Amino acid sequence: MRVLVTGGAGFIGSAVVRYLVLEKGYEVLNVDKLTYAGTLTSLKAVEGNPLYRFLKADICDGREISQALMSFQPERIMHLAAESHVDRSITGARDFVETNVIGTFTMLESARAYWQSLAPAAKEAFRFLHVSTDEVYGSLGDEGLFEETTPYDPSSPYSASKAASDHLAKAWMRTYGMPIVVSNCSNNYGPFHFPEKLIPLTIISALEGKPLPVYGTGANIRDWLFVEDHARALDIIAERGRIGETYNVGGRNERRNIDVVKRICALMNELRPSGRPHESLIAYVQDRPGHDARYAIDATKLETELGWKAQENFDTGIEKTVTWYLENEWWWGPLRKGYDGSRLGLLKSGKQG
Ligand code: NAD
Repeated sequence: MRVLVTGGAGFIGSAVVRYLVLEKGYEVLNVDKLTYAGTLTSLKAVEGNPLYRFLKADICDGREISQALMSFQPERIMHLAAESHVDRSITGARDFVETNVIGTFTMLESARAYWQSLAPAAKEAFRFLHVSTDEVYGSLGDEGLFEETTPYDPSSPYSASKAASDHLAKAWMRTYGMPIVVSNCSNNYGPFHFPEKLIPLTIISALEGKPLPVYGTGANIRDWLFVEDHARALDIIAERGRIGETYNVGGRNERRNIDVVKRICALMNELRPSGRPHESLIAYVQDRPGHDARYAIDATKLETELGWKAQENFDTGIEKTVTWYLENEWWWGPLRKGYDGSRLGLLKSGKQG
């Protein structure tokens, strides 16, 4: 099996690449531009493995993508490359529109030409998995879950650009008959998560004795999924998902942000006691504009139709994650340099456009 993965140097993409190469024995071509969010150090485990190859390229560059497809001849494409950080999308949305919308369009067009050139059996077997987020569904009240049929209602420039890319993927399926499947996943966490995101930021700041910034009152709820569970889900969806369908991916682990931060503090008190409880570092900061109140995923379709189930719950996954950060400063230390540990999504600073 040959799989072209875009964004394989990112958080989820690198988990997917490691899983496909090391657990499944697939041949993988990782296509990644290596933005601030992409680092090849996340792929040390597959470096030098004959099943793994890397191409530094921008998904907006149709010529390079087409060449990669023609020479690698993938049986599947798993498209994860994106600008992914909501906070950054608030202070500079242009990169999000370019990569998430134009980049996905370019991937679809290049993949279409490649797919049409395949012999009938290969054409029949080919799959394009478009990886997206539950944030396209907007915000939930206290009750209810996002289902595959929930109408799109994105709030941030990030989720709007992902929603646009999902619509493109579905249109390319309906208009050109391309064998496309879409997945929408809840918030991921785990090893190799870029240090400015909530969970790694909290762990590292607690370790450094710095304030732990929490937006608003910390009451916003996210449905957390361990990244390796997501990687397995994506492989299953690419393999067995029905063409044209959407599959929601989630761990049934809803937590308020403040409870996530407090759980990390409790683990840090145990694993790295510092003389005073880490909770005393919690600092409430001005809320993110357009901050969705609650996300929660109904993953019944993926569980019943394709037989996937999350292996980690939040308690086991967060403990693994905190331990991993404590043991792997070699990975996050260099990425953390030059970043002061504050949250980035506040309108008062940063470039626009
Ligand atoms: P990430 O920001 O960690 O990684 C994105 C990767 O894409 C990086 O390696 C980056 O270098 C690469 N990239 C960015 N622009 C590119 C371009 N123009 N050309 C080629 N490569 C480019 O993101 P992530 O958290 O791993 O998310 C991966 C995918 O999963 C995204 O599509 C995201 O929308 C989706 N997703 C993420 C989450 C989450 O909680 N992180 C949840 C659901 C869905």
